[in-house]
Amino acid sequence: MPLPFDNSYVRDLPGFYQRCPPVTVPAPLLLFFNRGLAEELGLPLIGAEDDALAAMFSGNALPECAEPIAQAYSGHQFGQFNPQLGDGRALLIGEVIDRHGRRRDIALKGSGRTPFSRRGDGKAAVGPMLREVLIGEAMHALGIPTTRALAVVATGEPVYRERPLPGAILTRVAASHIRVGTFQYFAAHGTDAQVRRLADYAIARHDPGLAESENRYLEFLRVVAERQAELIARWMHVGFIHGVMNTDNMAISGETIDFGPCAFMEAYDPAAVFSSIDEMGRYAYEAQPRIARWNLARLAETLLPLIADDEGRAIELATEVIDGFMARYQWHWLSGLRAKLGLAGKVEHGDSVDTALGESWLDLLHAQQVDYTLAWRRLADAAEGNESPLRALFPGQPGLDRWLERWRVRCAAEDADAGVGRCRAEAMRRINPWLIPRNHRVEEALSAASEEGDLAPFGRLLNALGRPFEEDPANSRYTEPAPDEFMREFRTFCGT
Ligand code: AMP
Ligand code: MG
Repeated sequence: MPLPFDNSYVRDLPGFYQRCPPVTVPAPLLLFFNRGLAEELGLPLIGAEDDALAAMFSGNALPECAEPIAQAYSGHQFGQFNPQLGDGRALLIGEVIDRHGRRRDIALKGSGRTPFSRRGDGKAAVGPMLREVLIGEAMHALGIPTTRALAVVATGEPVYRERPLPGAILTRVAASHIRVGTFQYFAAHGTDAQVRRLADYAIARHDPGLAESENRYLEFLRVVAERQAELIARWMHVGFIHGVMNTDNMAISGETIDFGPCAFMEAYDPAAVFSSIDEMGRYAYEAQPRIARWNLARLAETLLPLIADDEGRAIELATEVIDGFMARYQWHWLSGLRAKLGLAGKVEHGDSVDTALGESWLDLLHAQQVDYTLAWRRLADAAEGNESPLRALFPGQPGLDRWLERWRVRCAAEDADAGVGRCRAEAMRRINPWLIPRNHRVEEALSAASEEGDLAPFGRLLNALGRPFEEDPANSRYTEPAPDEFMREFRTFCGT
C-alpha cells in the first residue's frame, strides 16, 4: 500500500542517521489504530483491513516510499553525558504533510535492533506501548502539545524483561524527532558545519519565519526555550510528571515525547516522583522547570559556534536567553494559573497578588494532601456558590475558608455584574479537567491487555480520556483518585 511519504530528513541530512530495515515479526495483530489521526494525516487507510494495517505498522510490509532510518543522537541521562544513544529501538519510516499542511514524522518504536541498539534488544512490550497511547492521547485531549500514537501491533513473540512479556510495536507521530540530544551528537562527534546543517533543517521545518532574522541561531534557541517554557507550564497545570527529562527526551518542536515512566500526580505534592530509577528525585514534579532550563543550556552549548564567531560574545548572548527562561516559564505558569482560578485578567500589582493567591492554594492542597485534579474542578463548583463538593476534599482545617475569602475578593475585583459566577464556573471547567489518566485505572487497563489479552478496559479508558473536560456519569469511575495503598506502592518503569 503506498503512503504519501516525503522524506526530508533522509534527503537533507545524510550522515545524521543509519538506514536500517525493521526486523520481521511472526504474527502481527492490530491492537489499536487511531482512525481520526490517520485521517488528519491524510493517510489513504480508511477502508484498510486490520491485517493489512498490522502488516504495515509492524514493519513486515512497509508502505512503498518508506525509507526506514535510525536517527543518531546523544544525551544527558540523569545529568551524565552519554555520547552514543540514537534510535536503539525505533525507526523513522517516513514523513507526511498532514491536512493542515504540517510535516509529521511517522516512526515505529519496538521494531528491532538498529546500529544504535548497544546491548538492547530493540523491542518493546504491549503494556508500555499501550501506556504510551493512553497518556499521549490524554495529553492531546487536554490540549497539550504531544507526539501521538497512530497504531499498536502485537508482534506475537515475547520480549524478555524481568519476565517474558508479549511484544508490541507502537507507531508514533511527531512534529519531528529532533531532540536536544540530536544537536549534542553532532556537537560532540561532528563538525560545526553539521550542527549548522541540523539547525538550518530544524529552522526550516519548525521556525521558517526565523530564516531571515539577523542571528537566526540565537533566535532559534529563544523559540525552542519559549516552547519549553509553555509546555512545562502546561504539564505543571495538569500535574503531569514526565519522569525522564533527559536531553534526548526533549523535542525541539515543543511536543511532549517519550512516555516511559511518566505519571499524573494525584494528591498534591511538589516532590512527587514515581519513576523507579529516579532515586534522587531529579525529575520530580517541582523540578521540571529547572530541568528544562538545564537541558536548554545544553542545547545552547551546541549552538555557540553558530551564534557568534567570538566565543565570549556567543556565551553572553546565549546566557541571556537561558537566564530569561524562568521568567518566561513563570509568565506562562501565571497565565495558566489565572485561567485555572477563573480569573480573566489582571488587577493592579496583579502578578504578585495572583502568584501569592495561587501559591497559598497549592500550599493548602499540599498540607492536606488533597487530590490536585478534583480540587481545581470543585473550585469551579464553588465559583457557582456550591462549596460542599470542595469542602469534602479537605480534612477540615480552617485554612480553606480564609483562602476562599481571598479568592472571592480577587474575583470580585474583576466582576462587573453579579451574573458572572456561572460564566466563571464554565470557563474553569473548560480548563480544569474532570478526568485525567488515574494511575490505578491505567494499570488496570494495561494489565488486562497484557496479561489476559482483554482490550476492552483499555478501549473504555481511552474513550473516556478523549473527553477530559466533560462530566459524564458513565465515566465517573475514572475520576476517583487511586486508593492510598495503591499510590504508596506505585512505581513507573522506563518500559525498556
Ligand atoms: P529511553 O529511555 O526510552 O528514552 O531510551 C534511551 C536510549 O536507550 C535510546 O537511545 C533508546 O533507543 C535506547 N533503548 C531503550 N530501550 C531499548 C531497547 N530495548 N533496545 C535497544 N535500545 C533501547
Ligand atoms: Mg527516549
